[in-house]
Amino acid sequence: MSVELLVNVTPSETRVALVENGLLQEVHVERQAKRGIVGNIYKGKISRVLPGMQAAFVDIGMDKAAFLHASDIVPHTECVAVKEKEQFQAGNIAELVRQGQDIMVQVVKDPLGTKGARLTTDITLPSRYLVFMPGSAHVGVSQRIESEAERERLKRTVAGYVDELGGYIIRTAAEGVGEQELEQDAAFLKRLWRKILERKQKYPPCKILYEDPSLAFRVVRDFVGAELDKIRVDSRQSFDQLKRFTEEYVPELAGKLEYYSGESPIFDLYDVENEIQRALERKVELKSGGYLIIDQTEAMTTVDINTGAFVGHRNLEETIFNTNVEATAAIARHLRLRNLGGIIIIDFIDMQSEDHRRRVLHSLEQALSKDRAKTNVNGFSQLGLVEMTRKRTRESLEHVLCSECPECKGRGRVKTVESVCFEILREIIRVNRAYDADQFTVYAAPAVADYLRGEESHSLAELEVFIGKQVRVVSEPLCGQEQFDVVMM
Ligand SMILES: [Zn+2]
Repeated sequence: MSVELLVNVTPSETRVALVENGLLQEVHVERQAKRGIVGNIYKGKISRVLPGMQAAFVDIGMDKAAFLHASDIVPHTECVAVKEKEQFQAGNIAELVRQGQDIMVQVVKDPLGTKGARLTTDITLPSRYLVFMPGSAHVGVSQRIESEAERERLKRTVAGYVDELGGYIIRTAAEGVGEQELEQDAAFLKRLWRKILERKQKYPPCKILYEDPSLAFRVVRDFVGAELDKIRVDSRQSFDQLKRFTEEYVPELAGKLEYYSGESPIFDLYDVENEIQRALERKVELKSGGYLIIDQTEAMTTVDINTGAFVGHRNLEETIFNTNVEATAAIARHLRLRNLGGIIIIDFIDMQSEDHRRRVLHSLEQALSKDRAKTNVNGFSQLGLVEMTRKRTRESLEHVLCSECPECKGRGRVKTVESVCFEILREIIRVNRAYDADQFTVYAAPAVADYLRGEESHSLAELEVFIGKQVRVVSEPLCGQEQFDVVMM
């Protein structure tokens, strides 16, 4: 199998497409929010100790001095003023630091207005599955991993990576992840930490030691450990940055990087742009003529499978079975592509044969095994539905790219033209009762206005007689179908 990453970079957005054997399987979109300095690590210098506030000002090379509170100085901090760590006494700033000393700090809060950045000495380095904690000897597990057995497995595995450099927190994303991937993640973090320590020795104070990586890199980092053949990047600048970063920290990816200089947009390769478009639609066509309908609601996702054109009576059961099997691959792909998590209910076309059902289930499990997110398939329920779960990782593609439709407010339906016309007629009667007007003008969507003047013109005429006033209808192209205005003249 050939696996390729396509990285599309613009100043405001980075999109990464994972393509397997020419078919788009995953899309990651990251949009540039205002970039702060949270997460950056500095070699700072204590510029002033403020015993009254139990805090210190730290020069990190920025305009405004940063702020370090005594409670944010942890026991394993290096270069605290006290000679021995046993004497560490949380809380008393005068005993913890002294003016002029160097101290390694990480930003936890961006500077705001007149306030400088807020710092901690409790440095952490996150990656995809783990968070590295320098100086700690512990392994912690995210509370959101519920299975006791899985927690044990992860703890046991990751405990093997703890050394004099530090310990780890196991992130939720690590659930179900293999040893090799965890080990690569830990190796990456250790490499990163060693670089930071090297710089701390070499650099003068008030210098940055580590910067939270660029958007493009953060996305690519998530694929450390994945079997990739090629990573193509369409921005020269990002390519150069990625090249430097990967050579330094992720050498296993460096040789796979390529600069894409083609004339057509990179997402035209493998039809990626169109595939993303299709991944936002409800309907998914199957080659055999059948199709899926995928609906995402607050509580769950439902997938409905349908045979397409008329199928003969003779081999009906066989056709149904084949459509269901074909659907399993499409379902697995679209769950991944759309990044749908949580509960998923699949309504396969009814099958009589127990053997067919078993084989469809097996086919679904096979198709899901390529997914990096953990999935769990229960069998057919009494009503013939397949219930499954997929671990939620990021937000779904739809949530990242779309917002609620302003016209129907997410219902997916708008009132018919006829319903809106009757609503307008009722509104005129209501307004006429409440106010004293000489005549009325109705502003409505073109389709509604046409209907009022056409099919419903007799109703309008009757209404005019009923209220004894004239009603003018004006077509307003900017109106949505359900929108209208009744104006008194
Ligand atoms: Zn709508």
